[in-house]
Amino acid sequence: MVHYTSELADSNNQEVCTLLCDLLENQPPYKKTRFENAWYYKLISLKELSIRSFCESCDAESVFCATFSGTFKEIATECMTATTNVFDSASSKKYECFDGKSFILTFTFLCAKCKRPHYYSILITDGNILKIGQYPSYTSNEVQDVRKYKNLISKYYPELTKSINAYSQGMGVGAFVYLRRILEHLVESRFTGDKSWKFDEKFKAVEAAEQLIPEELSPAKLRIYSILSKGVHEYTEEECMELYLVVKFVVERMLDIEIEKQENQRKAKAAIAAINKKLQQ
Ligand SMILES: [Zn+2]
Repeated sequence: MVHYTSELADSNNQEVCTLLCDLLENQPPYKKTRFENAWYYKLISLKELSIRSFCESCDAESVFCATFSGTFKEIATECMTATTNVFDSASSKKYECFDGKSFILTFTFLCAKCKRPHYYSILITDGNILKIGQYPSYTSNEVQDVRKYKNLISKYYPELTKSINAYSQGMGVGAFVYLRRILEHLVESRFTGDKSWKFDEKFKAVEAAEQLIPEELSPAKLRIYSILSKGVHEYTEEECMELYLVVKFVVERMLDIEIEKQENQRKAKAAIAAINKKLQQ
């Protein structure tokens, strides 16, 4: 059993802020993330939080804000009174203990532009924090995000949405296999070398030419190569859940590069047409 003094309430809450934003923005429901007891104090000192989400009214990604001047403080107070006070005779200090307690927190975030609300519920229990609900749903939010790729990968688009849906329900292997099929298609269509190479070798070659994995994700590079070299039957549920978002990021990056290329070609074509028109005058 671990006890923490309330002195920790003043410490920097950036760590818990980052954890909460990642949980609300990116993590699927029921995926557990470790929650340290000390973070309760950081959590209750939070005044506001901003996350990015797709706004159905603005029809675009937007910043959603929640301020905790009223509601959050009330919830936090409930958390505090629900704790057990423990007196440590050795140090003559009174400690508050969160062990064995569970808390549900509900958040209402408003779109910064149009004030449309998004709702989230979080459960903190057994040393873990997890999202237990959100409206609009995780899948609908994520699918809005990838709509821009629909024309680009028309044949594979349903697999991308199925992949997101499977991930939202904690079916890591299924989600990962759908995603890998799309990645294979993208790599194969770019790879011009020896067709007999293994998939992970082809991926490395394409990655080296286009730098698909940015610097900040380089610590995960070797893990990505290693998991991509495996056969479908070798994946574990945990590996797939762990690497899903990284591989999804790589897939989206490849598609973004393609969209940018098409956009540049369109602009170049328009510029040439304008120059030719001018020269004919
Ligand atoms: Zn909006």
